[in-house]
Formats: sequence, C-alpha cells, structure tokens
Amino acid sequence: MPDIGTIAAALSSLKSATDIAKFISDSGVSLEKAEVKLKFAELVGALADAKIEIAEIQGLLIEKDEEIRALKAKVDLTGNLVFENRCYWKEEGEKRDGPFCQRCYDVESRLVRLQLGKRTRENGTFRWYSCKACDKNYDA
Ligand SMILES: [Zn+2]
Repeated sequence: MPDIGTIAAALSSLKSATDIAKFISDSGVSLEKAEVKLKFAELVGALADAKIEIAEIQGLLIEKDEEIRALKAKVDLTGNLVFENRCYWKEEGEKRDGPFCQRCYDVESRLVRLQLGKRTRENGTFRWYSCKACDKNYDA
C-alpha cells in the first residue's frame, strides 16, 4: 500500500526529471547527439517513475476518501441512535424510526430494519421483531 514514502519517491523522481530537463536546456547545442539521447532517456524514465508513484498515491487517496465517508456516516448515525428494549431506534427531533437490529449494528455497523411478526393463539397474540439479515428475533 502506498504511504508517505511513495510521496517522497514521487517528489524525488520529479526532481530528477526537472534536473535532467534543466541540464539539457542549459547545455544548449554543446551536447553531443548521443548525450542528448541518453539524457532524454533518463528524463522519460524519471517521468515514468513519477507517474507510477502518483498513480499509487491517487489510489491511496481514493481509499482514504471512502474510509472517511464511511466513518462520517457512522458518526452521523451514532449521534441519533437510541438503544431501547434490545433494539436500536433512530431519532431526529420528534421523529423516530426503527427498530433496527442490535446484532447487525453492533457486529457489522449496519442498520437493518426489523420486521414485525404477529401470531394469535388461544392464550393470546404474540408479537416479535425479526431481522431478515441475521435471523435474530426480538420481543416486540
Ligand atoms: Zn440482524
């Protein structure tokens, strides 16, 4: 995985490329054709290295953006989450949404809406919440 060392390597490659380009520019017509060809090859090599290193950095930034987005979403969510009767509820002002599965949120940080189940028997009506993701049931 690219890290701060990759940035240093990219900067070093770009500095090499700049130095070579400056050398060619300052030398003007005094350089031999073979020498110019060699310097251009070095320049292309340094730029290719920098390109690869910058692509790695780009990948790292994309990965970090995704991580930040997920963490922000979790922080926003946790602020409004209430734990009650073994389930989570989302509260925003007067509005209340839920319930959501305790197991799924605690283990996987996922808010999975619970489904209400109801069965009537001779000795009464039973209600429960069930999670379709992990099959856990909660008393309603
Ligand atoms: Zn669940």
